Amino acid sequence: MINPIHSLSDFIQLDQDIQVKEYLSDLSPRDKLWDTHKIYSQKIAEFYKAADNEPYFNRISNCANYLLFGLKDVGEEDPLLKLAAAHFCHVPQCQLCNWLRSRMWRRRFFKILPKMLTDLGEGYQFIFVTLTVRNCPLQNLREQLKEMSAAWKRLSERKDFLTFKAFTRTTEVTRNYDIYYHGSSVPQFIGRMGTRKYYDWLYQFLSAGGDKNLVQIYPTKEAHPHYHALLLVEDAYFDKNQSKYWQHKRWLDEWQSALRVDYKPSVHVKAVKTFDVIPQEISIQDIINLSLETDFDIPDVLLKKSLDSPSPLKDISSSLIKSVLETLKYCVKPADIIGEIVTHPCSDGFDNVKWLQEFTDQVYRTRKIATGGLFKFYLKDLESEKETDADFLGDRSEGDFLGIEYFFQWHNQVQKYKLKSVNTFDVDEKNDKVKEKHEFRQARKDKLNKFFNGG
Ligand SMILES: [Zn+2]
Repeated sequence: MINPIHSLSDFIQLDQDIQVKEYLSDLSPRDKLWDTHKIYSQKIAEFYKAADNEPYFNRISNCANYLLFGLKDVGEEDPLLKLAAAHFCHVPQCQLCNWLRSRMWRRRFFKILPKMLTDLGEGYQFIFVTLTVRNCPLQNLREQLKEMSAAWKRLSERKDFLTFKAFTRTTEVTRNYDIYYHGSSVPQFIGRMGTRKYYDWLYQFLSAGGDKNLVQIYPTKEAHPHYHALLLVEDAYFDKNQSKYWQHKRWLDEWQSALRVDYKPSVHVKAVKTFDVIPQEISIQDIINLSLETDFDIPDVLLKKSLDSPSPLKDISSSLIKSVLETLKYCVKPADIIGEIVTHPCSDGFDNVKWLQEFTDQVYRTRKIATGGLFKFYLKDLESEKETDADFLGDRSEGDFLGIEYFFQWHNQVQKYKLKSVNTFDVDEKNDKVKEKHEFRQARKDKLNKFFNGG
C-alpha cells in the first residue's frame, strides 16, 4: 500500500510523521470530544455493572469501540476528518450516544431553519421558554413527566396557543445535592442545590479562602424536571396593543392551570433576537473554535459560511443558534448522570449507582423531544421511526470523501481513540481534484488574511 500521507502531506497539514500522530485527537483536535464522551460512557457502563444491569453494561461498553473516518471535502476550508462508519449502542443514558443524538437534532434544525425562514419571509421571531414544576422524589419522576406531558398537551390545544406557529419542546432533568461544610465537629448544612448553583456557591466559598476538602456532597433522591421550548411567533405578537402577547404572568397562569396545580410553577421567558446576524468578521475558524470550547457542534452548513458568498444562514442570528443549541442539548447533564460532584454516599447507602439505575427505570421509553406546528411540517422528512447508526453519522452526501480512510480503535489504557490503519482507494484518480481544491482554498485563505490584516 502506498503511503498516502506523504503524497498528500501538504494538503492534510501533517507537520510530523504519521507514526507520531497515532491518536484521533492528534490528527484532528476537534475530534478530541470523542475521547471525552467515550470516557464518560465508560464510567456510566461501570455504574450499570455495579447496579447488576448487565445488558446496559455490555451495550455501552461496546458502543463505538471502532471508528472509521474519511477525509472529507467540506468546501472552502481544508478538508476535515469525518466519521464514515461506526456502531453505537443507542442506550438512552450512554453519554456518547447522547452527544451524537443532540448533534443529530441540531443538524436537523439547522437544515430546516434556513428554508423555513426563507419560506416565511420577514415578520417572525422566536421566544425561548423554560417551564418548570416543583422538584419531585426520584421514584415519582415517571409520574411527574406524564403529568407534564399531559399539561403541555392541554396548553398546546388551547385556542390562544395558535399564536405560536412552531414549537419544539425538550425535557431536561437535573439533580439536587445536599452540600455540607465540615469545618468543625458539627457539619454545617449549606443547602440543597443543583450543580449550577453549587458551582456559584463554591466560587464564593473559595474566593473567601474556603477549603474545598472540607466540603461534603451527598446525592439526594430529588429530581428537577423541566421543559425548554423554542416557539415561533409573528412580530405582531410583541405588539402591546394586540392581545396576542403572553406576558410572564400569562405564561405562569397558563402553565399553572394546564398543570392543574395549586402552586405557582417557575417560568422563564425570553425573546430571541433574530437580527443580530452573525457578524461578518466571524471566520470559519472562530466558529470551529467555538464548537470546541463549548462542546457545541456547529453544523456543516455553517462551516461553509464564507465572506465571498452570502451566508446560506443570513437570516439566522447567533442568538437563534444559541437558543437552538440550548433547546436541543442533553436531557441530563453528563455530570449529573454520574453525579460527578458527589463525595459521599448517603447513610442509607443511596449513591450515584442507585440514582442512575432508578433514573433509568423512571425515564424508560419516555419522550425527550416533541415538535409541533411548522417545525413538525419541515422536520417530517428528516425524522426517522427508529434511531439508527446512520442518524448519528450525519449527512454523508454533503461533500466528497477524498479517497483515504482512517480506522481508529478505542484504547483503554490511554483512554483515547488510536489509529490502527490508513487505507486508500482511488487516490490517483482523486489527486488532481484534491490539488485543484487545495489551490482554490489557499487562494481564499490568502484573501481572507489580507482582509483581516488590512493588507
Ligand atoms: Zn452509546
